[in-house]
Order: sequence, then structure tokens, then C-alpha cells
Amino acid sequence: MVQLAGINGARLLVRSLREHGVESLFSVPGDPMGPFLEEAVEAGIDNYTIRHEQAIAMAAQAYSYVSRDIGVGAVTSGPAMTNAITGLATAWANCWPMLLLGGSSELGKRGLGDFQELPQVESAAPYSRWAVAVDEPRRIPWFVSEAVKRATHGRPGPVYLDLPADVLTASVPESEVEQHPVAPGPPRPAADAALVERAARALAESERPLVLIGKGAAWADAGTEARALVEECGIPFVPSPMGKGVVPDDHPLNAAAARSLALRRADLVILAGARFNWTFHFGRPPRFSEDVRVVQIDIEPSEIGLVRPVEAGLVGDVGVVLSQLREAAGGRVGRREEWIAELARERDRNATQIAQLAEAPGARLNLYGMYRQINEAVGPDAVVVADGEATMAISRVMQPNARPRERLDAGTTGCMGVGIPYAIGAQIARPGARVVCAMGDFAAGWNGMDIETAVRYELPILFVVANNGSVRRRPGRALSAEDFGPDDAVRYDRVMSAFGGHAEHVESAPELRPALERALAAQGPALVHVLIDPQARRKEQAFGWLRREGRTRYGAD
Ligand code: ADP
Repeated sequence: MVQLAGINGARLLVRSLREHGVESLFSVPGDPMGPFLEEAVEAGIDNYTIRHEQAIAMAAQAYSYVSRDIGVGAVTSGPAMTNAITGLATAWANCWPMLLLGGSSELGKRGLGDFQELPQVESAAPYSRWAVAVDEPRRIPWFVSEAVKRATHGRPGPVYLDLPADVLTASVPESEVEQHPVAPGPPRPAADAALVERAARALAESERPLVLIGKGAAWADAGTEARALVEECGIPFVPSPMGKGVVPDDHPLNAAAARSLALRRADLVILAGARFNWTFHFGRPPRFSEDVRVVQIDIEPSEIGLVRPVEAGLVGDVGVVLSQLREAAGGRVGRREEWIAELARERDRNATQIAQLAEAPGARLNLYGMYRQINEAVGPDAVVVADGEATMAISRVMQPNARPRERLDAGTTGCMGVGIPYAIGAQIARPGARVVCAMGDFAAGWNGMDIETAVRYELPILFVVANNGSVRRRPGRALSAEDFGPDDAVRYDRVMSAFGGHAEHVESAPELRPALERALAAQGPALVHVLIDPQARRKEQAFGWLRREGRTRYGAD
């Protein structure tokens, strides 16, 4: 491409990002993104160098979700870009916005087998709301504005912009740059009034209504509206794992601790920014009643009735629609005292069992006991990140959330390894927040090297590795306490020490609280490594959280 005096693609890209309010960037440096990264730093964007592109995409989406600003990741060409695809997929499945920028081979050498030339746009497309190559520097303002719009308007999701090397370096005269307005904030559409009326009638007829609150409601910041509806009409609610905190977990109408009963017995379910995918068991028996009526609120029209027929499909912004529903139903719908009492009895029964588990005597801690001590040390105001299998599942039950978008976990793809990059993205989005990232010992390994990133940027994340010897287990065989003595554990605390962060190693219950206190007092990140009884059981479940064929068994599980 001919070099003209003027502005080059890299600088124009940075200018457009700045116009859209971008202040932070997650990247791995390298060709052909060098000029872009230099311009970004020059323009005052905080550039966080991450150790792996998967973690870049994950940190950027956590940043988006927690801040409700657009998180941006920048990767270089070929394998660097394909490394980011799992992160793109998690954002896509979670319906979280994000902008991924990928450097790529020169347009002028496409198809010739250029260095690191791979079909990047095609690879990103299945997991992006928009995947496109920027073809000319002068159109960059349009590409950026359109990317931000498509990532945040309607159902949110990731967008991939491919940046050929020669588009980044070529210059265009300012007069030829196609100026384009900054993308406005997302619209908040209301639902069809006739359908809202139909939903209100169904709610008035229902004896056992239930609101299912999902992470769409968290993204939409629909807490005030959700709370007003459940309180005014006296409707119990169950949050999804990341719907926790939209209405505070300690709300008396929260039926999460009676989840199985609530789902099974409800005669009307209001899906509020949640889907009937595996997370809510497809809305089918035996988890739900055969003839449960469904009111579905979603911003995405194609989601309505996708998995099961609905009484009323309310397409719109969940906060706006919950207000519409409250206005239409209020006065007509009274508290269902018997239903609320039935759920409260079950909740109390479960709470007693969990308290007993948390107090179980034994040389080693179990996860319930570990979380109880974490809660006592950290208090209720933490951004909770959970990664792993049992570590994540028990976190959902044990770690409270008082506000939306303060819990992040494996999410819709069930992706292990999200913990460390999500914690990094969340901490950068919320510098003053206490971020607690609890992981199983397997989960900690995937993006483990990025613990070093937390140390390098002095991010005060409290990492907890709950080590029950998962990496030592063999399919089909139980791991006994003898197989997993203190000397058998992989010592994640030593990894943190080697990186220069604060590290603690805990083998028994009385050691944990002082270790947590020291870790919380440390400047910068800390890692508390906790040995967990490999034989410890979860609370008896009427239904497994996930039912599917081909499960891997480890004897004692
Ligand atoms: P969870 O896993 O928490 O149950 P899901 O990710 O399955 O939640 O569902 C979130 C749903 O929320 C998606 O179908 C998405 O389209 C929807 N959504 C996202 N933003 C909004 C919004 N502002 N208003 C209504 N629905 C929304």
C-alpha cells in the first residue's frame, strides 16, 4: 500500500477506541500489532500484557461484564489469534460484549502462505456477533463504531476485527478519513403491551409463581426492577449462578437454597434474562413440572420459545419489561403465603445440613468449611470468581452476592480455567474492589502463568487454591486420604512465592483464618493454598447439577 502523509491505521484505530471511551487493553505484544500497541500506550490507554491469548479474551470480557464498558483484547496473527478462540466462545455463549482485535498477514500477500497466515475471520465467525477484516485505514472509525454497537446492542456478544499488517501501517490524509459518530449506548426497548397483559393475567392465575433471574438481568442492571416486582407481588426467585446478586442473596424471597423444590413445584416461571439451556435443565421434567407455564423476557427474539413453548414472550430490555410487568400485575397479584412458607421450610432444612457440613470434624477441611472461613474473613462485599468443579459448585451455595455482576464463573460453556483471567479483568475494571478467586487445583493450572500478571501489575486479588488432589486422580479410581498426603500435593503457593507474591499454605481448619488475614493484609496479590479432604462429600443432591451421558467417575464421587 502506498505510504501517504497523514494518519496511519494504527493511530486511527487508537483514536477511534479512545472516542468510544476505551481506557484499558489486554494484549500480548508482537507483529503486526507493534505500531498499534505503541500508539495505544502513547494515547494513555493502560496496556496490560497477559501471558496467553485465551486469557486476554477472558480478561477483556470480564472487564466488559463487570464495568459495562467495552473490554478490548489485542492479539497478534495466526496461532496467537486462534489461541483466543476459546475466550471468544465463552463470551459468545455468556452473551457478554467484548472487542477482540487480531493482527493478520498483509492483504497484499493473502493466499500466498504468508507468515502466520490463517483463516482468522472464518475461525472467529461462529463465536462472534460480527467477524470482519478491516479493509482500508480510512474506514476504521466506521468499523470501530459498528463493532461497539454490535457487541453491546440487543443480545450482547463478542466482535472480532481483523487487522491486516498493511492496513495498520498505511497512512491516509485526514481529509479522506471517513468520520463516523461514536456508537450510542444500547437501546432499552419495551415489550408489546398486549403480551405484557397476557403475562400479568397468567401471573394473577398462578398459585406458585417463580422468577428465574439470569446473567442477562445482571448485564442489564435490572436489580431495582427485579426487586420491585418480586416484593410488590410477593414472588420467590431463584438466580442462576451469575444471576446471583441482581436481587441480594439474603433477600427473604430468595429460594436458591430450595432450588430443586422451587423449580419442580412452580406452576408459572418468569425467565428474566435467563435461558432454558442446561443451566435451567431445559425447563423440562423431572426438574420442572410438565405443565409449568412460562413467561419469557429476553432481548433476543430468536430465544423466545426456542426450548419450550411460552405463554407470553416479552422481547425487550429485562429491566424495562420487569417494570411493565409490575405495573400490569401489581394490585392483581398477592403474596402466595403458603408457597413462600413451603420454600422457606425447605431452605431452612438445607441450611441446617450445610451448616453441619461446614462444621464437619476432620483433619482436613472440606469446601464448605473453607468457604465459611473465607466469608468470615472477607465479608459480604467481594467480587467472587469461582473456577473448578466442586470448588465452583460449592462456591455458588456458600459465597453470597449482594450486587449484580459480582460473581463470575465457568458460565454457559462450563469452561474451566476462566478464574485467573476473569479475576484480572474484574480487578482492573474495579480497582477498589476486593476480588476473591477460588479455584480447584486442576482449574488453577489452565491459566496459572497469569498469576504472574497479577503480581506484575500489583493487582490485590486474593487467590485461593482448594487442592483435593484432582490432578492426581485417575478415572475409575477413588483417591484416598493416604494417596494424598501433604507431601503429595502440587504446591501452588510455591508458584506464587516464586513470582514474588504473598503465599500461604494451609493443612488444617485452624490454620486457615490466620492465613487469610495475613493474605488480606498483604499489599498486592496473595495465594492461599488449602489442602482439602479428597474424600469430602457434597451435600446429597436430589438431582445432579448436570445430567448427561458419559460422565467420568472417580470411585468415591
Ligand atoms: P444464565 O446462564 O444466567 O441463566 P443466560 O446466559 O443463559 O443466563 O441467558 C441470558 C439471556 O439474557 C440471553 O438469552 C440474552 O439474550 C438475555 N439478555 C441479555 N441482555 C439482556 C437485556 N438487556 N434484556 C433482556 N435480556 C437480555
